[in-house]
Amino acid sequence: SLIILDTCVNCDVCEPVCPNKAISLGEVYYEINPDLCTECVGHFDVPQCVEVCPVECIPGDPDRVESREQLMLKYEHLMAKA
Ligand code: SF4
Ligand code: SF4
Repeated sequence: SLIILDTCVNCDVCEPVCPNKAISLGEVYYEINPDLCTECVGHFDVPQCVEVCPVECIPGDPDRVESREQLMLKYEHLMAKA
């Protein structure tokens, strides 16, 4: 999963571009639900939130490092539930 850092300026451009609806406004700034973020695997070649974020505050979550295979499995599980 990716993670939004506290340098987020709450501009809201990332939320609508997430294909998994993983992004929402948290208590203070925007947050990514790591159970929903596939790093855009299955949908796009590059993470869409990273593409649009004006302050580059969305790195990989060091506590939630996943392989491409794991991300693809997550994508398939999410699609099966949808
Ligand atoms: Fe959503 Fe993709 Fe960003 Fe993850 S990387 S939060 S799936 S837009
Ligand atoms: Fe925050 Fe970046 Fe999303 Fe804007 S695009 S709300 S700065 S994480």
